[in-house]
This record gives sequence, C-alpha cells and structure tokens, in this order.
Amino acid sequence: MDINNLFIPTYKRSGSPFVKGAGMYLCDADGKSYLDFCSGIAVNALGHAHPQLVETLQKQAAELIHTSNLYFSKPQIDFAERLIKHSFASKVFLCNSGTEANEAAIKFARKKAAKISTDKYHVLSFSEGFHGRTYGSMTATAQSKIHSGFGPLPAGFHYSPFNDIKTAGDLLELHDFAAIIVEPIQAEGGVNVADVDFLKFLREYANSHSISLIFDEIQCGTGRTGTLWCYEQTGVTPDIMTVAKPIGGGLPLGAVLSTDEIAASVSPGDHGSTFGGNPAACALGAKLLDIVAEPAFLKQVKTNGNYLKSKLEELKAKYPSIRSVRGEGLLLGLRFKNDPGTLVDDCKAAGLLIARANLNTVRFLPPLIVRQEDIDKAVGIFDDVLKNAAE
Ligand SMILES: *Cc1c(COP(=O)(O)O)cnc(C)c1O
Repeated sequence: MDINNLFIPTYKRSGSPFVKGAGMYLCDADGKSYLDFCSGIAVNALGHAHPQLVETLQKQAAELIHTSNLYFSKPQIDFAERLIKHSFASKVFLCNSGTEANEAAIKFARKKAAKISTDKYHVLSFSEGFHGRTYGSMTATAQSKIHSGFGPLPAGFHYSPFNDIKTAGDLLELHDFAAIIVEPIQAEGGVNVADVDFLKFLREYANSHSISLIFDEIQCGTGRTGTLWCYEQTGVTPDIMTVAKPIGGGLPLGAVLSTDEIAASVSPGDHGSTFGGNPAACALGAKLLDIVAEPAFLKQVKTNGNYLKSKLEELKAKYPSIRSVRGEGLLLGLRFKNDPGTLVDDCKAAGLLIARANLNTVRFLPPLIVRQEDIDKAVGIFDDVLKNAAE
C-alpha cells in the first residue's frame, strides 16, 4: 500500500520513513543516512538526539508530562524566566506552535488597540512573508496561493511590498492600524533580509500612531543568525516577538514575548491553551536556551554561517544558473534564475536534506551545531548534484 494513502494530502512526500537520528545525520528505514541541512525546517537546532536534551526529556517525562495552565509548573517558570532574561520582553504567553504564537500576538495587539478605538483593528503585513496556517496567521501571510480556496478571510488585513517604505507609509495612512507584523528575515518567502531603514521606519511609525510592532522570529530567531534574536542585529526592538520552531528542542512549543504595556491590556479568560507551555516542552526549551544563549555558541554560529556563505558564493561564481546568495548566519539561501525544479529531491537522493523557499530559492538550515567538515561535505554533495543537472 502507498503510505501516502494514509494522510490528507497537505504534503507532497515520498521515500522511506525516517527512523532515527544522531547529530547532523538522519537515518531512514532502509538504512540510508542523510546529512541534515534542513533541521526539520529550522527546528533541530542542536541536531538529533542531543545528549543533554535526551537526558532532560527522560528526567522530565518521569516527573511530570502535563499539568493544566490552571496551575504553575516548574519547567514553565524556568523557561519563561530565561526568555525574559535574554530578551527585551517583560512578559510571555506560551503556546504550542508558530501559527498559535502569531494568532495570540495579533489578538493581544488588537486588544490593546481596542482600548483606544473600536476602529483600530487593522493589521499590516508584507509580501512573501509567512506567519502560519490558522485563520489570523494565514490571513497575515501575504501570499495568495496560501489563501486560495479558504475564504472568507478575517477582515482588516492589508499587504505591502517588503522593504518598500513609501508604499507601506501610504497604506498605513489609509486605516487605523492595531499591528504591523514582519519577519526580520523572511525565510519561507525566499530568504529576504529586511533593510534596517525599513524596520526603523516601521518602528517610528508604530511609535507615533500607537501601533504594536510584531517581529515574527519563529524561523530567524533562537540563535540562527548568530545572535540569540535577530532583532539584536537591527537596532530595532519590537513590542511583541513570536518564537517557536527550535525553541522547544524538537517538542511543540511557541511563545509570545511582550512588553508590560501589551500585557496590561490582556485579562484572564482573553486567551488560553490546554497544552501551551507543556512541562516536557518547557524543560527542553529551558535547556536549549541555556546552551544556545552562550556567547561562545552564538559566535560559532556566526563563524560557521560566514563559512557556509563563502562556500555558497563560490558556487554562485561557478554556476550561472545561480542568481544570488542570501541570508545571515545559518539561515542561508541560494536563489536561482529559474525554478530549481527537482533540486531538493535530487539532493535528498544524494544524501543531503535542504529545504525549498519561494522565488526560485533553496534554503540551507543546518543544525546550529554544524561543523566546517559538515559544511564541506554538504556543499560537495550540492555541487555534484548541480554538476549532474547541468550535464
Ligand atoms: C514556520 C513558521 C511559522 C508557523 O509556525 P508553525 O509552528 O508551523 O505553526 C510562522 N512564521 C514563520 C516565520 C515560520 O517560519
């Protein structure tokens, strides 16, 4: 039987299922191993079966796996304290995924804005951004292919081209906005880095119009670009930041980080989650932050990111089909002049996992523990695949 027949076809996939992983490698049921430069889409920051995460999870599982948000749990407190200690934020809300974090962020921003005016509910987001698949986050995702067939969408969402100050400024004048949501680096959208001037403009406009500025750092945060949070490199601090993907060490975990001012407009009963901030996920999250927030760890991400980028630049010089090398740290992309077609599948067949992105782009998202020798090996496989495709 075709295993695809088991699933509602939201994903197109094939091949032998994965059965285990260790460090930079995954192994499938046929015993074939793969060098993982996808990291479960930027989730496995410490690779697979990291000894400290395994130990933490085993210990926590034996103590407490779930308790309701009607009560406190120790791992949840540990995790929240670390998020606050290591960021601009003074308060957190815990959930299970990226889309839920953005959903909560939009709700909190609208709640705050509603105290000013009942018309102040509009949300601005940017072309090629990606914020998730539930109705609020999906509607904030300015990509028509993601909306197609799911209308009617919630009201009050508006889209502007990324990095275009003039158009954003004009649009912001047309409605009473509650929130602006933006990724400092658009990941799914093709590894598009926000201009510092663009973010500064959004910050200033938001300040002068009491709009909440939300940074979606679900993919670009948690150490991936060489600082714990991407905003640290921009000189612009948001009012709300959403994090997820790697933050739970591989378990489902998301968080909304906010200022006291945002939190002050939220009351008990306004929002909630049965599993949000689950003790097992939070125990992994606290351990992961202890490791990733270390300056020496982050420095290594930067060094290896620069090394991988220099290798990708070499490929660009070699293959005219490559248009640009994009991104920061270990969130890197190669944009091709034309659709890269089966490139990602061909790499998988050759034992290398990478990810697609929009606009003819492929993403390199290795675990943050990647070493130079892994990078050499991955780039070698990729080079061979390109060479074969060119022949
Ligand atoms: C993956 C992603 C999301 C959605 O996260 P899920 O956990 O899949 O719901 C939102 N924003 C960004 C930037 C992402 O990369």
